[in-house]
Amino acid sequence: MVARFIENDAVAALAAAWARDYRLLAPVREGQAVIYRPWAPDMHPFLGRPPTASAKQALLPQTENLLSYTYRKDHADLTKTEVFLADPLPPEPTVVLGCRPCDARGNKLLDRVFLERGVADPLYAARRAATLFVTVACEHMENTCFCHWTGGGPTSEEGSDVLLFAVTGGYAARAITPAGEKLLANLPDTSQQIADELAARLANPVEPGPAPDLRAAPERFLALFDNMDFWMDQSARCLSCGVCTYLCPTCSCFNITDENQGLKGKRLRTWDTCMSALYTLEGSGYNPRVSRAHRLRNRVGHKFCYHPQEFPAASNERNAQPEVSCTGCGRCIKSCPVSVDIRRIVLDLLEKGEKK
Ligand code: SF4
Ligand code: SF4
Repeated sequence: MVARFIENDAVAALAAAWARDYRLLAPVREGQAVIYRPWAPDMHPFLGRPPTASAKQALLPQTENLLSYTYRKDHADLTKTEVFLADPLPPEPTVVLGCRPCDARGNKLLDRVFLERGVADPLYAARRAATLFVTVACEHMENTCFCHWTGGGPTSEEGSDVLLFAVTGGYAARAITPAGEKLLANLPDTSQQIADELAARLANPVEPGPAPDLRAAPERFLALFDNMDFWMDQSARCLSCGVCTYLCPTCSCFNITDENQGLKGKRLRTWDTCMSALYTLEGSGYNPRVSRAHRLRNRVGHKFCYHPQEFPAASNERNAQPEVSCTGCGRCIKSCPVSVDIRRIVLDLLEKGEKK
């Protein structure tokens, strides 16, 4: 397939051109972090390493308005109150620049939750349909990356509209979808030299090393479900900070709250974390996931047992590995303040959950 060429110096100008037609989110350096920000004219997109947080905020904002409401009281009859509801504004067409293949694949896993469980979430569906992903293929895997365990890889196209490859002097851009082709319409084709460089790179992909067979993960997890010594051991260091869930491209827990101001208000959906004790605290005071061990067990179980059990057809599409609710981006490993490593937990449960 023909690739287009973007010179390093032309990335910001291209982003500015896209920002005329789309809401553009682009990664920028802020201290040690790389953060997605809405486009601003003085912005310098930074594509040199994976953003610190995933791109899920483009589809599932940290806080979003589900609806607005207004009460009107009948002063002649105070037992009567009318409620008027207003939908939020429709989403703007959006381009996310600079996510990584693991993040683009994460969108498919969010779709399972918000589109494929019998009832589609209309706000998510509208935002999904309006959002394009311009992804940067990874040149190497960091020591926290394990996308190859989960069916992905450094040049996976799944979920992307455009895939960018770093080449001499800039990026070779490949359109994956017709919408992506439109984004690249005004760019020149790559030179023969760059085309050869790209072909050589694709012919010699990053060698990711071995991956465990995850087909047994659901069964092994269930075998260890009641083994609280195992889960207390795995969660002994956890601080319940929730960083792992907030940065994850596939974690989707949320809370819904109403914020009133007099006779008006908004219903908001806000990210939540299953690693917090408050997440499952019931009104009665009972908490079914009372300890960190229970909560870590739930997080790992959701990703490596409940998800593949809920979507077995998706798992079967994926040759050897089941579809798990993890893309192997490694953010939860990299940013955990106490170095809890989900790979270690999965390997331990594969080993210790085996029936002897
Ligand atoms: S980031 Fe680490 S310490 Fe924080 S909740 Fe997750 S596992 Fe626990
Ligand atoms: S590696 Fe961690 S942060 Fe990344 S998708 Fe898997 S669970 Fe989420």
